[in-house]
Amino acid sequence: MIETDYLVVGAGASGVAFADALVTEADVEVTLIDRRSTPGGHWSDAYPFVRLHTPSAYYGVNSLPLGRDRVDVVGENAGYYERATGTEVREYFAVAAERLAGTGQVRILAEREHVGQDVDGELVRDLRTGAVEQVVVRRKVVDARYLEASVPATHTPTFAVDARARVVPINDLPTVADSVSLYTLLGSGKTAVDACMWLLDNDVSPERIRWVRPREAWFHDRAHFQPLEQVGAIMQGISLDAEAGAQAEDLEDMLARLEESGRLVRIDPSQPATMYRSTMLSARELYALRRIDDVVRLGRVRRIEPDRIVLERGAVETGREVLHVDCTAGGLRDAPATPIFQPGRIVLQQVRHNSPTFNAALTGFIEARHDGDTDKNRLCPPNPYPNSTDDWPRMTSRTWRTERRWLSDADLAAWVSQSRLNLLRALPEHLDEPPVQDAVKRYLTHVGTAIERLQQLSSLERAGEQHPSNQGMR
Ligand SMILES: Cc1cc2nc3c(=O)[nH]c(=O)nc-3n(C[C@H](O)[C@H](O)[C@H](O)COP(=O)(O)OP(=O)(O)OC[C@H]3O[C@@H](n4cnc5c(N)ncnc54)[C@H](O)[C@@H]3O)c2cc1C
Repeated sequence: MIETDYLVVGAGASGVAFADALVTEADVEVTLIDRRSTPGGHWSDAYPFVRLHTPSAYYGVNSLPLGRDRVDVVGENAGYYERATGTEVREYFAVAAERLAGTGQVRILAEREHVGQDVDGELVRDLRTGAVEQVVVRRKVVDARYLEASVPATHTPTFAVDARARVVPINDLPTVADSVSLYTLLGSGKTAVDACMWLLDNDVSPERIRWVRPREAWFHDRAHFQPLEQVGAIMQGISLDAEAGAQAEDLEDMLARLEESGRLVRIDPSQPATMYRSTMLSARELYALRRIDDVVRLGRVRRIEPDRIVLERGAVETGREVLHVDCTAGGLRDAPATPIFQPGRIVLQQVRHNSPTFNAALTGFIEARHDGDTDKNRLCPPNPYPNSTDDWPRMTSRTWRTERRWLSDADLAAWVSQSRLNLLRALPEHLDEPPVQDAVKRYLTHVGTAIERLQQLSSLERAGEQHPSNQGMR
């Protein structure tokens, strides 16, 4: 039998970042368990050419830098802060876990699955032996799997596949690509973008690629997510959000403003876009993706047969020589909001948007330094991941309201301002630069009105009200 103060279920980025922040602040004993054999969560099963889409500078755990804050000079990320490869992220979490274990406060148990509880404690199955162990938790069980990512290598596709059709997850693309003449990529999101970019970068001409996009997506311009010396760009992006939010007549008008300002982009501006998953593209990626003309917009794939693909709203011909690449895994999980701090339990969720590991560390800090779930939940309210543009007003206004609460707590505000996971941490050092001053001024001018306006838009969306102008967006 194991005894521990905290049992963290899930040793992905969130679980490890939470534990790191907690033990930095509190003399407690933490046990992290995961089904997987190594820490790092979904990164262990990522496709070989995956890399962070955000800079390494503000990803990972609070106590350990990831990368060296270099600005890339060549390639599609030239001029922007380095982004770790999948291998680098996995190695990083291995080191982070080792350091945690070295504190003597943290025990990491791989290949262990949380299977429930009985009257005496939590039940954890050792996946190597099948034995179920009891874990007595003195303080809290931390659910670090509530937002568990769904990735191509481990998800089950929602469409049927005829045995004679060639379908592979994106993970297999590099090993089979040599034998392929035509490709059909399935999926609208970042994974499909990565597959397209890998093919184009490997000299596959755009004419050999068909792209099945059930929904059109909005992406951020990566330029607005550059920290440290370029932090003004982040502030500028946030100020454009505030301006668009304050002035928006409705959701469609807000998106038009965000597109007009360059804050959001879509691959084909002639198509209405409804998908928004907080992902980003560089200008070079956008230019390359626009070279793919054969786009199928007939909804989700239902079935892949040897000679045709059956979709929600029709079918298209295909052939046995075509390789279908599955990029349809959901990625971020759309779990409903639930209080983060509950009696005997913490459920890790998004708080500030676009900052998953910051949020986990923030939750660990608040757990260590604050008393009472009411106060903790006030500072750390859940903010579900977005799925569509309908979620943008709620997500953005909730982030701003929560950030204001942090400022009212000196201890927390100091932690936020110094955290390496805070994408705005270098802002104070750049406040004398005129573009940064302009962005801060624009943000401060608009944020109050934007919060109110976005809350209105968000409740209209929830109530299902149809603005005549919204109808094209659905
Ligand atoms: C391809 C991809 C790229 C991304 N890139 C970025 C990026 O660049 N920047 C960024 O900020 N975010 C990015 N994200 C968002 C990403 O979700 C987070 O960065 C983070 O890695 C998620 O970690 P997690 O711990 O919440 O979830 P996961 O990585 O899914 O970890 C959850 C863990 O819980 C374990 N688990 C589940 N159930 C149990 C159980 N019953 N018992 C034991 N263990 C269990 C699972 O095995 C898993 O290891 C990306 C996401 C994806 C899918």
